[in-house]
Amino acid sequence: MTTEFTQLNLHPQLVQAVTEQGYETPMPIQAAIIPLMIQGLDVIGQAQTGTGKTAAYALPILQNIQPEQNHVQSLIVVPTRELALQVVEAISGYGRYRPARVLAVYGGLAYGPQINRLKRGVDIVVGTPGRLLDLMNKGVLNIGQARTVVLDEADEMLSMGFIEDIHAILAETPPDRQTALFSATLPPEIRRLADKYMRDPQAITLGGEQVTVAAIDQRFCVVNQNDKLAALTRMFEVEEITSALVFARTRAGTNELASELMARGYSAEVLNGDLSQEAREQTLKRFRENKLRVLVATDVAARGLDINDISHVFNYDLPDDSEIYVHRIGRTGRAGKSGIAITLVAPSERRRLKQIEAFTRRKISQVEVPTEEDILNHRKDRLVKQIGVWLQRGRYKKEREIVEMLLQEGHDPVEIAAAALKVARAEEKQRPIAPISPVAEPAARKFERRKNQSSGKGRTSANEPVSHEPGMVRLMLHMGKQQGIRPGDVVGAIASQARIPGYSIGKIFIQEKHTLVDVPEEYLPQVLGKAKEVHILKQPTQLQIA
Ligand code: AMP
Repeated sequence: MTTEFTQLNLHPQLVQAVTEQGYETPMPIQAAIIPLMIQGLDVIGQAQTGTGKTAAYALPILQNIQPEQNHVQSLIVVPTRELALQVVEAISGYGRYRPARVLAVYGGLAYGPQINRLKRGVDIVVGTPGRLLDLMNKGVLNIGQARTVVLDEADEMLSMGFIEDIHAILAETPPDRQTALFSATLPPEIRRLADKYMRDPQAITLGGEQVTVAAIDQRFCVVNQNDKLAALTRMFEVEEITSALVFARTRAGTNELASELMARGYSAEVLNGDLSQEAREQTLKRFRENKLRVLVATDVAARGLDINDISHVFNYDLPDDSEIYVHRIGRTGRAGKSGIAITLVAPSERRRLKQIEAFTRRKISQVEVPTEEDILNHRKDRLVKQIGVWLQRGRYKKEREIVEMLLQEGHDPVEIAAAALKVARAEEKQRPIAPISPVAEPAARKFERRKNQSSGKGRTSANEPVSHEPGMVRLMLHMGKQQGIRPGDVVGAIASQARIPGYSIGKIFIQEKHTLVDVPEEYLPQVLGKAKEVHILKQPTQLQIA
């Protein structure tokens, strides 16, 4: 049986506020934590963003606030300014009919206004550790009478190096205070912190899987590392993306990805450590207001990010830590909504994927990268659909006039329509379908093949026109040392233009005026079809059987 908000011993004014926010029933963490916190017990909630943890501690805090007090009654310590602002906003909403004086404090803000607010009286302070300590040291923030202290996203604070600050803050609070600790993971330092400062804490564990991952449609596709960008842009063509978060490992990676997506006409921006706080907030604002469809982020920059309605999370690469994976994909499928998480897996990352599946105890389903044909069909279907919508609306008076004018000029109606579609599709040119090579064979097989090549029986001589390697055919092209070509130029040109894996190309002998290159027989039709004329060092040259 589901618990109702009315069953949690919450003040009716709080129940009314959450109901008006559209919360129908308490989320599991709320049902578990609220009654405990109302009683004044210490709690440890192992839960991530998206589970409803803010309301789980904010509602009891609001319930327990005593009016007209002249001291800070509750302190909420959070890792980022971003989260501080969200928490304050949430508390103001929940406290609509039972108001409390809430203040966010974090680095980067001018001290003056914060100090004035503190002097006038604040019931709940929400802040980042460094700024809280600063204000305490300045003698303007006194937490000596705080009844409740919340440590939110404790593991994030730990990984950001705030643990000493947290010890220092807790040391200033009264020993009989109530302490609530929320953390997605409970590493040893966090457990030690709990042992030191908490009294008989009630631990509530919500497996990330049940809470966040279950509602998410998790998919992966295997693609060569070099083709990931191409695969991502192809996915963008066929997925119904309303807003997407793309995770990349490095800052440089985020920049490159965002520019590639922008070049293809998607509104994308980066969220990484290079951004100033102001730029970061601006970017997030645009994203929330749907002026920006794609955020390309690093894990660090995406910390504490609370954005709902993300339709897709893309993992451009796999994080080393399975928990980070859960964290990433937990950004979609929020508050009971379904979401899609797509991971691009290089062959070398397959093992990591298995580990993640084992960790989440959920199967991630394999999908294929959309083919060129899929994309072209998709584009066509979309165009036909759009035309259908306009035909139904029938509001194209001005356009009709143009058609009539063209008809009068003697053009055929079908020709006019076809030409108009050509114009309408011009923007597709911005989005060329990037080529993708077949996935590289696993390293073990590659090794086998190399071994055979060097075992003697496959040995060949440069001067022999026929390849002696089993399964290989020798081709020739009319460029050589005189033109300054190197083996890499040959592999690159053939592999990319014929779309075959580079490693499958065999021996290469560069002579004065020509070059011999061995390619697998199975790829011959592709090589002689698509790449019969290859461009090497920007010059066209013919490939032919030697
Ligand atoms: P949090 O984990 O606190 O960041 O909350 C995640 C999201 O869930 C926020 O957007 C909340 O507004 C929303 N939320 C929290 N509690 C409920 C609830 N009981 N019903 C529906 N949505 C909720």
